[in-house]
Amino acid sequence: MSRTYVLDAPVFIYGVHVVGTMYTVPEVTRELTSSQATVVLQEFLKEGLKIEEPLKKAVDVVTEKAKSTGDHLKLSQADIDLLAKALEVSGTLVTDDYSVQNVAACLGIETQAIRQARIKRVLKWRRRCVGCGRLYETETICPVCGSEVRVKPVKR
Ligand SMILES: [Zn+2]
Repeated sequence: MSRTYVLDAPVFIYGVHVVGTMYTVPEVTRELTSSQATVVLQEFLKEGLKIEEPLKKAVDVVTEKAKSTGDHLKLSQADIDLLAKALEVSGTLVTDDYSVQNVAACLGIETQAIRQARIKRVLKWRRRCVGCGRLYETETICPVCGSEVRVKPVKR
């Protein structure tokens, strides 16, 4: 009864946690340049995240559909690969990208917006303000001092 999710880059950038079978594509991991996102990606890999290229057949189906909706010009290679992987594994695509959501809907792929997803933040990734050190659940900017709030992995 475990669900299958295909994860877009912001999942790793925000350091949120997903419960289920998890996939992403190599093109997405290439977009993760911050050290924070890389640390989060390592945590996902420990929890069973699979990084796989989509099948070419699935990529072709997605590309054709994106052309028919006019979204192809707005989609990156990572977006197309994610859609193809979600199609291939019948997974729910976790993304905030509007064009990706639109093409997904046309292909019958279920999507969840990252901020609305049934995603459980776990305490081993705490969000801590770099300015005053306060801990937060979801903030990216500290409401007290205005500094950046960063995801910090907490050692168990
Ligand atoms: Zn602060």
